[in-house]
Amino acid sequence: MAHSITLCNKCGRCIEACEQKAISLDDQGIRNNRDICINCGKCLEVCTSDALKVHGKYMSVTEVFEQIEKDRSYFKNSGGGVTASGGEPLRQSFFTAALFKRCREAGIHTCLETCGYADDSELSRFYHIPHWYYSILNTLILIFTLN
Ligand code: SF4
Ligand code: SF4
Repeated sequence: MAHSITLCNKCGRCIEACEQKAISLDDQGIRNNRDICINCGKCLEVCTSDALKVHGKYMSVTEVFEQIEKDRSYFKNSGGGVTASGGEPLRQSFFTAALFKRCREAGIHTCLETCGYADDSELSRFYHIPHWYYSILNTLILIFTLN
């Protein structure tokens, strides 16, 4: 959930609507405690200033795969496929692995782009994937700074 400081008039309606007590108000505006927010959307319903917005949505493996399948002919002609990228796909390693399995069963290439910051149990779900991009951004920034 995103909050616009500019649009928010600090009316407090969202705080009252949140049964999880996930929203608080301070000098900077409202704060959403993502550790306890359950994404129910009740705060959005009462905000008349359009100051709250939800970005992204929950999708099943099947729903994502249905979107991928629409590009199957493009993948076939270009030799391309699906890359799971960031954020960090290893934060949802179980989901990503299930999606890749579905793609491979359908003959669609898969590639993992990751910073590699994950437990071995999560990384091991992808050891059989032939294509990896390792994005080591902090190292790149460090080299840039030294030059
Ligand atoms: S309901 Fe909307 S305008 Fe009111 S405090 Fe919450 S975010 Fe701000
Ligand atoms: S989405 Fe639901 S749980 Fe999360 S802050 Fe809004 S009202 Fe509270």
